[in-house]
Order: sequence, then structure tokens, then C-alpha cells
Amino acid sequence: MAHPKEPFSDTLKIDPDTVVADIIPLDNKRQSAEDTKAAELKDRKFRALLSVTQHTRKSSRCEKCGAPLDVSADGADKVDSLRVPYRFCQGCSEEYTDYIDRLRGNGNPLHYWQQDEWLQSWSKWIDYQGTVDRYLKCGAFRALLDDLKANRPVK
Ligand SMILES: [Zn+2]
Repeated sequence: MAHPKEPFSDTLKIDPDTVVADIIPLDNKRQSAEDTKAAELKDRKFRALLSVTQHTRKSSRCEKCGAPLDVSADGADKVDSLRVPYRFCQGCSEEYTDYIDRLRGNGNPLHYWQQDEWLQSWSKWIDYQGTVDRYLKCGAFRALLDDLKANRPVK
């Protein structure tokens, strides 16, 4: 008994070269769309990351509360920049120096709002700033920057 022929071999009359030629551009198109989507996602994430890590550092706004800073010479004189290592508005600068004074055992008893939670909020905010600084300097973040620079289309 002869083996039956493959059932579709006679009805399938598509040239294999044609099929491959049709599939490759589709596959390239799909891959290209995926690459574009991945690049857009990465770019979006990068922008979000930058806004978190650098927005307050380069803007003319207070790093703590976001209030516009008085960058005039008069405004600069108001802030004791030797005691305040951040770009703060005057109010946040005063709160910061109060915080440092409290850590040193001094404090103004009239400042009833400067309690444990207030101390903790300053402590955690300062820790957060340090964490962001370390992240910006770490290898993973620098690799991301290099990766984005290499893949960014020239405009
Ligand atoms: Zn402020």
C-alpha cells in the first residue's frame, strides 16, 4: 500500500520564496513598531525620572516647598547660604536652620509646631535628597543616560 501524499501538498501552491519575502517585511515592521514603542516608553520614563531628580535643582524654585525663589541680589542676601546647603525660600531656610538648632539641643519653645513629626519630616526629606544624589551618581543611572544618548534620534 502506497503512502498517501501529504494532503495539502497539491493544493498549497504558494511559492516558499514569496511567503518568506512577505513575512520578513511584516516581521521587520512589527519589530520596528515594538522598538519605537520601547524607545518611547524609555524616553517617557527618563523624562519622569529627570523631573523627579533634577527639576527642583535647576529651577528657580524652593527645593522644599516649590515656592518661587527671589534670585535678585537682595533675595540672595536674605538666605544664610553657609548654613543652608539647599536652594530654599526664606521660610524653608528658617525652618531648616531651626531643625539644625533642634538637633543640637537648642530650639525655640514658642515654635510649638516643631515637634517629633516635624523633626521626622525634615530628617526623611534630607535622607531622600541624599538618596537621590547617590542615585544620580550611581553606575545604573549613568548607564541609562549613556543608553538614551546613544539611542536618541538626531533632531
Ligand atoms: Zn520653601
